[in-house]
Amino acid sequence: MHTSALVLFSGGQDSTTCLALALSKYERVETIAFDYRQRHSVELEARLRVLEQIKLQFPQWAHKLGEDHLLDLGVLGQVSETSLTRDVAFKMESSGLPNTFVPGRNLLFLTLAAALAYRRDLQVMVTGVCETDFSGYPDCRDDTMKAMQLALSLGMDKRFLIETPLMWIDKADTWALAASLGGPPLVDLIIEHTHTCYLGDRVHRQAWGYGCGECPACDLRAKGYDRWIAATE
Ligand code: ZN
Repeated sequence: MHTSALVLFSGGQDSTTCLALALSKYERVETIAFDYRQRHSVELEARLRVLEQIKLQFPQWAHKLGEDHLLDLGVLGQVSETSLTRDVAFKMESSGLPNTFVPGRNLLFLTLAAALAYRRDLQVMVTGVCETDFSGYPDCRDDTMKAMQLALSLGMDKRFLIETPLMWIDKADTWALAASLGGPPLVDLIIEHTHTCYLGDRVHRQAWGYGCGECPACDLRAKGYDRWIAATE
């Protein structure tokens, strides 16, 4: 029986939904994120706001929410050149992957998360990776997660469970999942405080939250929101 979890929590819609799910299931939940010199510090600011709002608005979860960990991973900017860490425009590469793909990023995140979970005695790692959406990042695939779970469990001689609640659902279902977990207050919190836009736009307020409305991340979030709203009407 699992009672504790470490959520890979970036401050976006997906990881906030995963955090709400973990808080509804487990007795003790901690959060982890990585500062890898993202082009925008907007995400890192968003995550602190989300944690604060969860504590304020959800007393049934607040007492389960433990330490937040921010790890410095500046080294990632030294080894990779992508539109997330450098000031270059978003585009698709000849490999068929978007240039937001940071090779090995999720593998590193999970390895460090496992090392921390080991020290903090947390049993489950929860991550918002998803195979259904457009990106096709190979380090978000279900097979990769299963391989990581095995490698980390063997390599640290401790049984880790990597939980991926969003793996097979699309963005409309992610909105629906948030609504089922925390009702309108959680949906409002996600709209108001989470951040997804690749350009770090916190100026333009859309029905689904802040963002440029043009980049692939905004596009995905907006279309999912529209489909979810249409399904609930
Ligand atoms: Zn955007």
